[in-house]
This record gives sequence, structure tokens and C-alpha cells, in this order.
Amino acid sequence: MTKVDCSELSGETKVAIAVAISNGLNGAGVALLDGNNIVIDTLSGPEIEADRVEPILRSYISGREDASAYNVESDGQHIAVRSTVPVSPRAKRVGDRLPPGLLQCPSCGAIMASKESYDDHLRLHDLIRGF
Ligand SMILES: [Zn+2]
Repeated sequence: MTKVDCSELSGETKVAIAVAISNGLNGAGVALLDGNNIVIDTLSGPEIEADRVEPILRSYISGREDASAYNVESDGQHIAVRSTVPVSPRAKRVGDRLPPGLLQCPSCGAIMASKESYDDHLRLHDLIRGF
């Protein structure tokens, strides 16, 4: 399973990156927050490789106002997002409450930015349960 090391990032940035990856994958997979990592879950679909996630990540980071505060590193298998600015341990925690407009799947923890993709995602779980 493809993982993105986000251990140097703030909770807010981790959530934003997970949403950007989920959106960029267009339903082929969802980005889940797993402690300090973002994990790409395809539910029952084909595995999503790091080389598919990396360009999504780079384009998201380069579009941020604070793009220079991050470095994306990848060796083709593992991806890490490094922060060039120190982040306090407190800020690294992901808050109990999501920023407004985001929805979290009660089943797997995936975070989605629209009601539409949230509904699609829940439908995906229902499909799996039906088999
Ligand atoms: Zn889910």
C-alpha cells in the first residue's frame, strides 16, 4: 500500500494533502490519515503506485502559497513530504474537528471535500458489503 510520510507536517496540512490526493485520484482510491502517514486505500481496486500519487502531491504543493516550506521526496516507492519550517508537536496533531466543508467516512476514516464524493465513497463500501 502506498504511503506518504507526513511526520513533519501540521495536522491541518496533513488533512489538506489527504483531500488533494483523494480528489486527484478521481475515485480510484482514497487517502486516509494513519497517524503521521497518509495511506492510499483502493478498497478492492487495483493498487495505486507511488508514481501516480507523486505528481498529484507535487502539483498540490506547488499551488500552495507556502510552497517553498515543503519538499516532496520520492525514491519511486516511498514518498515523504518534508517541512523546511519547524512545526510544533501540538500543531502536528490532527484536530478532533475537521475544517468546515470536509466529511469523514465513519467506516475507514477517509476524508472528502464534497458531499458528492462522500456519498460516492459510502456507496463503494455498500458494494463491497454486498459481495
Ligand atoms: Zn470509507
